[in-house]
Amino acid sequence: VTFAECSLKMPFPDTHPALRRALDARGYEQPTPVQEAVLQPGLETRDLLVSAQTGSGKTVAFGLAIAPTLLGDADRLPPAPQPMALVIAPTRELALQVQSELEWLYSETGARIASCIGGTDARAEARNLGRGAHIVVGTPGRLCDHLSRGSLDLSALRCVVLDEADEMLDMGFRDELEQLLDAAPAERRTLLFSATIAREIASLAKRFQKDATRIDT
Ligand code: AMP
Repeated sequence: VTFAECSLKMPFPDTHPALRRALDARGYEQPTPVQEAVLQPGLETRDLLVSAQTGSGKTVAFGLAIAPTLLGDADRLPPAPQPMALVIAPTRELALQVQSELEWLYSETGARIASCIGGTDARAEARNLGRGAHIVVGTPGRLCDHLSRGSLDLSALRCVVLDEADEMLDMGFRDELEQLLDAAPAERRTLLFSATIAREIASLAKRFQKDATRIDT
């Protein structure tokens, strides 16, 4: 067995120690194919255009992919008055699922994760945002509401993740996605996850990503 083969079998290579401890505590020993793909060395600062299905472990995959941008070499996250990462998902259910996955994955980093979803009290969400969050997870419409009311400040974002981008376009959220992406700093990473990379997704990627690395799983 060569060294290269050994290191390929290593559980979660190139993963921040705090996230690795969380994966270990959860009993996840091996990365799924999409997780292995996003963990390849050299992708830490890149935009990613990823085709991945539900159930592939894509949520943990983007959680792992944004970790170098959020944490760097630090043990824990610094206080964040404004969000550092934004995850946009098509439905409330998915957004809440993403929030709970990121909660355990980032449990040892001191991360605060806030949600902005339709059908709940927007004022309570605004108060929660006001207390500071490292990561905000939400649906396009409600995120735009908070943006226009001034309760969501995207000026310090370092990465944006679009989860199930094809679903969001099918649901007619293109304008909302454009508003949110236009409000984010130009210097940021944009990770786009979609079941399929159809023409509309490719055009969104072209407009909002920089020299993205494509990953097909
Ligand atoms: P997702 O595709 O993100 O909806 O994930 C599907 C399910 O797989 C979730 O319950 C994850 O917590 C779980 N999962 C993600 N990564 C792993 C892994 N490396 N090993 C085992 N289960 C995982």
